[in-house]
Amino acid sequence: MNQLRSVKGMHDVLPEETPRWHFLENTYRDLVGLYGYREIRTPVLEPLELFVRGIGEATDIVEKEMYAFEDKGGDRLALRPEGTASVIRAFVQHGLHAQEPVSKLYYIGPMFRRERPAKGRFRQFYQAGAELIGAAEPIADAEIIDMAASFLKALGIADVCVQLSSLGDRESRLAYRGALVEFLEKRKEELCGDCLRRLSVNPLRVLDCKVEACRAVASTAPSVMGYLSADAAAHFAQVRRALERFKTPHEVAPGMVRGLDYYTRTIFEIQGRSEVLGAQATLVGGGRYDGLVSELGGPATPTIGFAFGLERLLLMLGDNAAAATQRAVFVAGVGDGGVDRAHDIARSLRAAGCRAEVVYSAVSLKSQLKRADRIGAIGVVIAGEDEAARGSVTWRDMRDGTQIELPISELTARVEAMQ
Ligand code: AMP
Repeated sequence: MNQLRSVKGMHDVLPEETPRWHFLENTYRDLVGLYGYREIRTPVLEPLELFVRGIGEATDIVEKEMYAFEDKGGDRLALRPEGTASVIRAFVQHGLHAQEPVSKLYYIGPMFRRERPAKGRFRQFYQAGAELIGAAEPIADAEIIDMAASFLKALGIADVCVQLSSLGDRESRLAYRGALVEFLEKRKEELCGDCLRRLSVNPLRVLDCKVEACRAVASTAPSVMGYLSADAAAHFAQVRRALERFKTPHEVAPGMVRGLDYYTRTIFEIQGRSEVLGAQATLVGGGRYDGLVSELGGPATPTIGFAFGLERLLLMLGDNAAAATQRAVFVAGVGDGGVDRAHDIARSLRAAGCRAEVVYSAVSLKSQLKRADRIGAIGVVIAGEDEAARGSVTWRDMRDGTQIELPISELTARVEAMQ
């Protein structure tokens, strides 16, 4: 039979790699926990309409990259391409707004986009994110940006740059849209077919087209920052002041574009330098989306959030990230009933919280010692017949190869002392 392989752009994470994932995930959980964020888990399949409404019809994600299909019952579904729309759907569905004035939610999970696979770009990838729902104040923006930067710092990624911009409110966007359309109309011949269509449907999306010629046009387009309403400009200035107060260095990036329609006011990215990913890589992306909760049927609720890709951060971390694994003890069975005795001892060690590995078939002591060496065991318990008759075991210290016999009642204390 020929072997089956994983789907293109979707990868297995093998046991050698999972400790680094755990390190990343645990660092994230611990850090956001300090700010009071609680985890939410939502399904990977959602109604297609959620993303069409939430992310926006004319975005690349929805138009080109989504895994969308009709199931056998005729429901139109999609694999989630990002986390925010689902979190807000759940927030509205379960009436979380009625439970507390401000909800702080975080998530970690796989996302799906049918992009062209490349270094650091996959079709199934993991994102973690945080959503601060119910706070409109600029200090909330600063707190969540500072939290994202602190997370990178906790990972040991120091060389980062927070970039900040504003898309303004509805009023600002309307004024900007007019100016942008006027600019793009003059450069129409240079735009791709998709962008010509976007020009009338959603001109802002022209700015994040990936086609080279369109990017050249976009780079000279006016910035929305020049069209901010007085209110939006004041909000932006206060976010900056709060970031200065928190001593979070940042730069204003007037040309920043994010690929999703739901953003309003503050948007931000955190860039890191990486040899693996190219000179500059976006590690974290986020912003405010004050209209999304009401777009998805809830009460008007200001919200800000961010997301980051786990694979990209792992590439950045190189080999630095190592989760501490508990040191193991190997229990070797020797002689008649040796395997059973070894399992009994392993169970009592585990009950005391010690990692214990054990044999499954009666093999020579030599091969069991080899196995113990391979798993990096700090010691081996030899459960031999003669010792068992005396109510004891042999303890072999793997660091110096010495062996002693000890009463079985003293074994747990001995192992614990070595952990
Ligand atoms: P976005 O949701 O597009 O703002 O992306 C946020 C982050 O998710 C990016 O900075 C990446 O780290 C990660 N990301 C987005 N798309 C992919 C992908 N196709 N493969 C791997 N990581 C991705």
